[in-house]
Amino acid sequence: MAARNVVTEYETVIGLEVHAQLLTRTKMFCGCKADYAVAPANTRVCPVCLGLPGALPVANHTAVEYTIITGLALNCQIAEQTRFDRKNYFYPDLMKGYQISQYQMPIARSGWLELGDDQRIGVTRVHLEEDTAKLFHRVDSATGRSYSLVDVNRAGVPLMEIVGEPDLRSPVDAREYLIALRTLLQFLGISSGNMEEGAFRCDANVSIRPAGQAEFGTKVEIKNMNSFRAVYRALEYEVIRQQEVLAGGGRIEQETRGWDDGAGVTRGQRSKEYAHDYRYFPEPDLPPLVISREWVEQIRARVPELPNQRRARFVEQFVLSDYDARLLTSSRATADYFEETLKFGVNPKAAANWMTGELFRLLNAVGIEIQQAKTTPADLAAIIKLVEAGKVNQQSAKAILERSFQDGELPDRLVEVLGLGQISDEAALTKAIAEAIAANPQGVADYKAGKTQAIGFLVGQVMKATRGKANPGVVNALLRERLDSAG
Ligand code: ADP
Ligand code: ZN
Ligand code: MG
Repeated sequence: MAARNVVTEYETVIGLEVHAQLLTRTKMFCGCKADYAVAPANTRVCPVCLGLPGALPVANHTAVEYTIITGLALNCQIAEQTRFDRKNYFYPDLMKGYQISQYQMPIARSGWLELGDDQRIGVTRVHLEEDTAKLFHRVDSATGRSYSLVDVNRAGVPLMEIVGEPDLRSPVDAREYLIALRTLLQFLGISSGNMEEGAFRCDANVSIRPAGQAEFGTKVEIKNMNSFRAVYRALEYEVIRQQEVLAGGGRIEQETRGWDDGAGVTRGQRSKEYAHDYRYFPEPDLPPLVISREWVEQIRARVPELPNQRRARFVEQFVLSDYDARLLTSSRATADYFEETLKFGVNPKAAANWMTGELFRLLNAVGIEIQQAKTTPADLAAIIKLVEAGKVNQQSAKAILERSFQDGELPDRLVEVLGLGQISDEAALTKAIAEAIAANPQGVADYKAGKTQAIGFLVGQVMKATRGKANPGVVNALLRERLDSAG
């Protein structure tokens, strides 16, 4: 008999390695400013970050503190003693011919990140290293010859690496972990977390194994993804590719693959390199670093309220749904915006609805972050108060928010500019009501015959006639009054 096709169920195993640039003023081992992206090319350069012989590095104190605070927020153990190591390799963006990193004695190890409800994803280690220079690959339009430019500004910018355990079991979970990790770093205020700009980068390791098998399968490392969506798509693609290789009787090679976002595929780049390829040895130009327990406790006292804690407090203090609280703590800026809005004395549920509904919709449409919005918390509070005071209706309030969002005009002024003041004044409404009654005898008859829902139709006619500016509650009351009294 020919071999039967065995349908095997596979389990996906993923572990992520994340690099985050730290928001320090200066670079990791020299006094050059770390504002590499905004400074003109090659203006943040000195003998140390250029890798000139004889130049000596000095470790950035703030970068070490940022790594310790990250370790604490990730429930890690903080090393009592740590040191830096040299990782040797050659590439045009590596000025010294080696990278100063941490190999055997990372600053933090053995922690976890909480995902969803009570799911803990292990964090193997958090260590500190330095970023490389930036290469720009160009083609000369006249000759067609390709060449590369190097900007040394980024060389030596502090880079923190967070190595995760292979605890993730799906691309969806991997994306959630990344989002939660980025949010955490942003709450700590130590990294911009900007993926598009390369300030937050991820290498994803993925393998599959037959369901029930204890050992892991051979892993593939995927590089070059610069959005959450790209990480998710690359992993989805890679899981299916690996399943097909195994189903076809092949085996997975341990290798590094690059994600091609346009084509939507991963491509083999090089076979895996091993630690010994890097000839690590202790960095002789830097002394070992002792991290006293007093220092750790000082830093622990500075850990701010973290996303999960803030979410729980929002549910408790403001009586929000867990869903709303989750949305409102999706970034520190969002959570701050919400609490700022409440300071103006508006109802928390109303503020939550306006933010998660209209405001988020407007932000998404333009693709900006809440801290860039022209509508301030004071403006949003003013709009909510206009509605609560019956000065404008819901529809008009949305139009006001939209205009405020576009040009930052004050809501109170927009009520006039847009002519959106709600008509609650009886005298002003009487005429429209009389006309609605005269023009709709059938509706009036229905109401008098006991079909009370006919009142809704008549209110609608008045709203139409006033172009939505009438206060529907007042219209309703006035209509009933007129119809009930007129025999
Ligand atoms: P390496 O020796 O290749 O650097 P490590 O064991 O240090 O591998 O792990 C590097 C990353 O790969 C970690 O994030 C880890 O979680 C992940 N990883 C390790 N083994 C696997 C596997 N079999 N499948 C998926 N991810 C893995
Ligand atoms: Zn420098
Ligand atoms: Mg490793």
